[in-house]
Amino acid sequence: MSLETTYDADNIFAKIIRGEIPSVKLYENDKTLAFMDVFPQSEGHCLVIHKSATATNLFDINTDDLAALIAAVQKVASAVRDGLKPDGLRIIQFNGAPAGQTVYHLHFHIMPVYEGEALGRHGSGEPADPAALENIAAKIRAAL
Ligand code: 5GP
Repeated sequence: MSLETTYDADNIFAKIIRGEIPSVKLYENDKTLAFMDVFPQSEGHCLVIHKSATATNLFDINTDDLAALIAAVQKVASAVRDGLKPDGLRIIQFNGAPAGQTVYHLHFHIMPVYEGEALGRHGSGEPADPAALENIAAKIRAAL
């Protein structure tokens, strides 16, 4: 998928927004949604998306919608920091398959980093146990 991809309304995140597939939600407002990554690269790895902007990547979104999205990223990242107390925290966003993007609905990764613990591989392996994800999500929600 190049940087000039047409938005596919049936991508996985669009289905999560419509409630067609389950997700462990952390935070939602009228414009944005945050939920746990089902293939977490570290404990607390989560994703933040815009709910109505049909943007595949950073270049497709207008600045007002992007402002709402990045504000939600800051809010949720603060809760991840306070709820899970990682040693560091990465905010990552991929554009195009060659850069590592695998889902073509613009999203920001919030990835806690714990000293001495290697990050898992990107978007692969066994999906996390939903109960374990829910446990971690509860700590993040409590810090929102
Ligand atoms: P990208 O590679 O596009 O930057 O990131 C997509 C992310 O979505 C990956 O980290 C991957 O683990 C995650 N992901 C893929 N499918 C699902 C899913 O069905 N549910 C959730 N919650 N995350 C997903």
